[in-house]
Amino acid sequence: WHERLLGGFRKTSDRLMGNLAGLSAARLDEETLDEIEEALIASDLGPETAARVRARLAEGQYERNMEELGIRLVVAEEVERSLAKVAKPLEIEAFPRPQVILVIGVNGSGKTTTIAKLAKTLVEQDYGVMLAAGDTFRAAAIGQLRTWAERIGVPIVSGAEGGDAAGIVYEAVKQATATGIDVLIVDTAGRLQNKRELMDELAKIRRVLGRLNPEAPHDVVLVLDATTGQNALNQIEVFKETAGVTGLVMTKLDGTARGGVLVAAAERYGLPIHAIGVGETADDLRGFDANEVARIIA
Ligand code: GDP
Repeated sequence: WHERLLGGFRKTSDRLMGNLAGLSAARLDEETLDEIEEALIASDLGPETAARVRARLAEGQYERNMEELGIRLVVAEEVERSLAKVAKPLEIEAFPRPQVILVIGVNGSGKTTTIAKLAKTLVEQDYGVMLAAGDTFRAAAIGQLRTWAERIGVPIVSGAEGGDAAGIVYEAVKQATATGIDVLIVDTAGRLQNKRELMDELAKIRRVLGRLNPEAPHDVVLVLDATTGQNALNQIEVFKETAGVTGLVMTKLDGTARGGVLVAAAERYGLPIHAIGVGETADDLRGFDANEVARIIA
């Protein structure tokens, strides 16, 4: 997986280095500082991190006798600072069990695959896991989740297409409680096209959950596709309001040049980033090390 992570962030890094090409810490006039700041923003790293890098370079806070490396070292340090604040694995600590994790995200973001990855990771840590197919809007989503559940060997509660998502969640929590399940992962419909419906459905799921366990849902994890770049940030904005997001998983970080968006998301929203997706199999979910990622990017 390290290869894939490296592959992904290497492309991000190549893009960043391309954007910084010809800019040197040797002549840091206002124009150059502006260009450096713009290059970082163009590389998806976000205005906050870019501004911090600019300020540090302007103040001369870098190794002067390594002018070539000067910019990169400062970028790496500031990227690490942005990521270190948000790199937080999902904790399984709910009592009474089960811990209920709602997974949300627009179609195609990698939501179903992420649920499978998360389930497999937790099973490997000896947790009892159950899935609930709460995305009743798409028949394909239900079928796909069933296939994953079978492959990973975890129980799933599902219903028919067009069925009542809250009803399935209710049934799932009851079964999970009765069978001593530790973690219930709930898929939900990712219909951003209709915010009202999305909000109503999530509110209904929350009401049903709350009746069974006032603490649930314990986590609301938003899945984002890194390849969409800045669009991923817009999705955080919308889902934060409508769904009470508690954490993020960013997918498809293998092989995209837009991995910098991880940094922009960290800085702008400060939401925990629980894991990153680096491939299409159930084994391709990883926590990340802020230092490691920062050193690859810059
Ligand atoms: P959903 O519609 O949000 O449930 O998305 P899916 O889980 O079905 O994923 C959409 C597509 O993205 C599928 O072809 C997945 O195999 C692929 N995918 C999901 N996560 C990753 C990832 O981390 N890396 C890569 N390369 N592909 C991914």
